[in-house]
Amino acid sequence: MNFNRHLENIEVYEAGKPIELVVREFGVAPENIIKMASNENPFGMSPRVAEAIAKNSYKGYLYPDDSMYELKDALAKKYSVDSSEIIIGAGSDQVLEFISRAKLNSSSKVLMNGVTFAMYSIYTEQMGAEIVKTDSVEHDLKQFQTLAEEHNPDIIFLCTPNNPTGDIIEKDNLLNFLETVDKNSLVVVDGAYMEYVKYSSPDSYIEPKDLIEKYPNTIYLGTFSKAFGLGGMRVGYGVAKKEIIENLYKVRPPFNITTLSLLSAIEALKDMEFVENSIESNFSEMRRFEEFADENGLDYIKSSTNFITLLLPDGYNSSNLSDKLLRVGIIIRDLKGYGLNAIRITIGKPEENSRFFEVFKKIL
Ligand SMILES: *Cc1c(COP(=O)(O)O)cnc(C)c1O
Repeated sequence: MNFNRHLENIEVYEAGKPIELVVREFGVAPENIIKMASNENPFGMSPRVAEAIAKNSYKGYLYPDDSMYELKDALAKKYSVDSSEIIIGAGSDQVLEFISRAKLNSSSKVLMNGVTFAMYSIYTEQMGAEIVKTDSVEHDLKQFQTLAEEHNPDIIFLCTPNNPTGDIIEKDNLLNFLETVDKNSLVVVDGAYMEYVKYSSPDSYIEPKDLIEKYPNTIYLGTFSKAFGLGGMRVGYGVAKKEIIENLYKVRPPFNITTLSLLSAIEALKDMEFVENSIESNFSEMRRFEEFADENGLDYIKSSTNFITLLLPDGYNSSNLSDKLLRVGIIIRDLKGYGLNAIRITIGKPEENSRFFEVFKKIL
């Protein structure tokens, strides 16, 4: 059977492993499994959100409000933009898909960092467009500028902080770079972890209005999956000038998030204290990871997110280490697929991290 020929070279995205798999394959009891692979909030969701879901669960029979008025209104107020400048997706992943479908065809090019979020490549390949990458692990905007001039890309993906490395693009550098970009190139600024930057490096904290007013060819992406603890509800958003949003709406299916997801996101925005407390714990625990790395002679990339990437010395293999941890119920992310001999670990609760240190030290 023939399929869209652009799919031939696509490797199916391998998501972080679920708890169910470890129970099934290695017989570890669910309560002994620690999931440190998908950058979820280890504290779960705000109790206020959990309560709202329970109370409104019967509403699952109703289609959601497809205008998503209340959520867009809350985000518009949070970011001082207009509701017409916002689109909601089933995760910001879906907004990435809208962007690729609205902007790319088989003669397009996109530009991205050497090591970055895998979905940028996958959506680009689906459209048959060409991928140009820098050869950098952390964003090198000088290279971005040179390659943008050479290739004239339709989309430039910037991820700050970057996944899977955790480093940020400094705000001044980012804004200077935007000055140089051709107005026909759409610059995607993926801020999936931006809430953490407000705490760790406030000078590089970016909000949509910092970008879209002066640079109308940019779109900012945010998500409820990370700091807000709603990964399973699938809610993300894009903020851009109206012309861009209108075109993204043309490829959006109706009712693209669920009634309960919509309600959770609206409720989550009312409990910023939960988010702030989670972030505070995240960075005091991050310090424990840095100390652990120092004590054990491991290099790491300074992170402004809820995960840390440990670079392994020669003689260690990231896949073997990940596998050994998996067998005892600790799920982390092997970065072999990104071309790095490194592992990415989501910062857990204090007691989870203590267990990680203990087990990992033995395995080392
Ligand atoms: C997690 C993540 C996303 C999107 O997550 P959704 O759950 O689809 O909102 C986007 N970009 C990066 C860099 C991420 O790490």
